[in-house]
Amino acid sequence: MSKYEVVEKFVSINGEGTKAGQLAVFIRFKGCNLNCKYCDTKWANEQETPSQPMTEKEILDYVLSTGVKNVTLTGGEPLLREGIENVITVLAENNLNIEIETNGSVYLDKIRKLHKENVTFTMDYKLSCSGMEAAMNLDNFDILNSNDTVKFVAGCREDLIKAKQIIEKYNLYGKCNLYISPVFGMIEPEEIVNFMKENVMNDVNMQIQLHKIIWSPDKKGV
Ligand code: SF4
Repeated sequence: MSKYEVVEKFVSINGEGTKAGQLAVFIRFKGCNLNCKYCDTKWANEQETPSQPMTEKEILDYVLSTGVKNVTLTGGEPLLREGIENVITVLAENNLNIEIETNGSVYLDKIRKLHKENVTFTMDYKLSCSGMEAAMNLDNFDILNSNDTVKFVAGCREDLIKAKQIIEKYNLYGKCNLYISPVFGMIEPEEIVNFMKENVMNDVNMQIQLHKIIWSPDKKGV
């Protein structure tokens, strides 16, 4: 049985997305293929960070032991892990709600083809402030459905303009849930709201990461 390097596992509330405010079990996998300028989990991507190799059965047992129904697979980039579809399958077959937080660079087709209705994607679209926009896999926009989410993390007005362009170019209104979140400390949430008002952006949610308000922005395990 494969083992997956887990750097953190804990129960907290979902800080963002459609289940914001609800309890969730977080499984954070080690490693990422991107290097965003504002990354707040760089520690999880470093080779020397201690991790716990866990099988899919051990991950499932931990999740079931919490009694919490929402499971967030995150990282790093969780979909880089060889065999991750086995973890997703085993969790999905136990009536859990699986949310995969993915960075927008990994093609999602293989996971969607598992045909698990209780598996949803929260896919980032990395805007220019991340320095990683060129890595985005635009084919993913064909794969997302109304249960999935695209999250634009904006650090400046240019990012907001680009987010609007992407939403329009790929007809994302009504296709999936749309969120715009501020890069903490780089843009005022009010500027995002004003931009949404100016551009009458119906069906877009401005969201501030709850865990950064409830706890210190750098706190791990929340
Ligand atoms: S994709 Fe996420 S984990 Fe990876 S570098 Fe960017 S912010 Fe950090």
